[in-house]
Amino acid sequence: MTEAAECPAQPIVDRAVAPEGLLAWEHQRFGRVTNELGLDPATVCALHCAARSLIVELPLIRDDGSMAVFTGYRVQHSTALGPAKGGTRFRPGVALDDVTALARLMTWKTALHGLPFGGAKGGVDCDPRDLSPRERHEVTRLYTLAILPTIGPDVDVPAPDIGTDEQTMAWMLHAAAEAGHRDPAIVTGKPVLLGGSLFRAASTGVGVAHVAQRAWEHLGGTIAGARVAIEGFGSVGYWAAAELHDRGARIVGVGDITGAIVDPAGIEPAEVRAWITAGNDLVDFPRADVVDGPVLGVDCDIVIPAALEGTLTDEVAARLCARLVVEGANGPTTPAAERVLRERGIPIVPDLMANGGGVISSYFEWAQNHQRMVWTETDERRRVLARLDRTWESLAAEAPVRWRDHALGLAITRITDAMALAGSVVSNHSGIGT
Ligand code: GLU
Repeated sequence: MTEAAECPAQPIVDRAVAPEGLLAWEHQRFGRVTNELGLDPATVCALHCAARSLIVELPLIRDDGSMAVFTGYRVQHSTALGPAKGGTRFRPGVALDDVTALARLMTWKTALHGLPFGGAKGGVDCDPRDLSPRERHEVTRLYTLAILPTIGPDVDVPAPDIGTDEQTMAWMLHAAAEAGHRDPAIVTGKPVLLGGSLFRAASTGVGVAHVAQRAWEHLGGTIAGARVAIEGFGSVGYWAAAELHDRGARIVGVGDITGAIVDPAGIEPAEVRAWITAGNDLVDFPRADVVDGPVLGVDCDIVIPAALEGTLTDEVAARLCARLVVEGANGPTTPAAERVLRERGIPIVPDLMANGGGVISSYFEWAQNHQRMVWTETDERRRVLARLDRTWESLAAEAPVRWRDHALGLAITRITDAMALAGSVVSNHSGIGT
């Protein structure tokens, strides 16, 4: 276990960091907002340092008898407002910097939505598509056992993220139970049969669609007939597409790693999903045209980057036809792209706001586990969307160009207040606890 030794002696905005990548981008945004809030350097340092960064090595005996060692991470950034909370990604190239940045994003996200959680993120540097089901199960089991001393329902609660799903959470739950920690609240995003909530699987994508509708209407649009392009057709992209389609929007473009397809008359999300589930590539979908380049550039009203971080670059931003960007992924827009979009007057609904439905639903799953209760899907959906609406109201009062910084400022203020009340920092922004 290694403790993160990241504690600058000067305001974070002056620190030298690698110029590109999620950590650098998060760093810039955090520096800008803490400067604006006028926080002192000691508080800025306390806010930014990760509480715990764990690196684990996972030796796997592969199906062919050879040995492979995978590296896993779990970063708990903050527990100021409650147990650390955040997903677990299985993806080639997962590294400590990205996981740290993503853990910070979770801290800001849970605080923004008023959840009693801190922020964390985990991951394993592996390609789940290159692993057999037995190997995936074993990597998950080894990872869970390795991080088990630092997780728990009231300590740190993992969930799915890129490359993991409810099966992964079932395996994590089982590994923890076999090691003596039998509690469904140890992870969220589990299968319903094992204590998962009925709305969790759809929650992030449905939430993205809901926030997209709110933002579009705020800008004077109507969702019926609005043309939407979505990058990423995993659980976030698919559910966002399906929900927007149900609400009357037209899905005119969909893209994933195989390419991008368009149909100005509208694509049926359920048909595309059935096509992919049957083992086909998105790009071969027969009832749409293939386009070169990123789907974010197609002619439409709203674009939803719901794949990976950093896909909305300045070059893509310069070619965007849409009038609104809604961030379904974490960190999809680079700061350089943000500058281009600002100059072009295209607002961005930030990830913290737009994709918060997932962790809000995780909170309700965790609460149901604690209560040994099961809510109906309708009830949970209503509560998740109501929570998103509440947060949206506080953002919508601001000019669109301020949405990201305002969301981050609200989150940072809540955490600073909590830390001041606990006596962990000496000063804060709003004066609570001083
Ligand atoms: N991975 C999701 C996110 O980035 C959900 C995290 C959770 O439910 O804890 O928000």
